[in-house]
Amino acid sequence: MAEIIILIVALAGISSRARQRGLSGTKYLAVAGLGYLFFFAAGSSGPVFVLRWLWVAGVFAMVEWIHGDPTIGESWQRPECRMYNEPGDAACLCGHQHPEAQNAAEA
Ligand SMILES: [Zn+2]
Repeated sequence: MAEIIILIVALAGISSRARQRGLSGTKYLAVAGLGYLFFFAAGSSGPVFVLRWLWVAGVFAMVEWIHGDPTIGESWQRPECRMYNEPGDAACLCGHQHPEAQNAAEA
């Protein structure tokens, strides 16, 4: 049972990280979840157990590293209000600053 809880936490993390980067949270959640289920269905012997977690970790790595900084050429989203904004916009449609501009101002 512990594995299911870890999986849910991992999928929620992937989804929220994808949304922070202006990607589709649902898409990456589905890719990670379906891949996990595929390996889960393949059996529970040692190597397959490792493979299904490698898959989840791989999807997380993809969300984290393959897609660059969302401020460069990608639409972005403030996690708080969830509105999508154009790549060049310095402020959100709701009037708040870009999260990274805000972080820089607070630093
Ligand atoms: Zn906003």
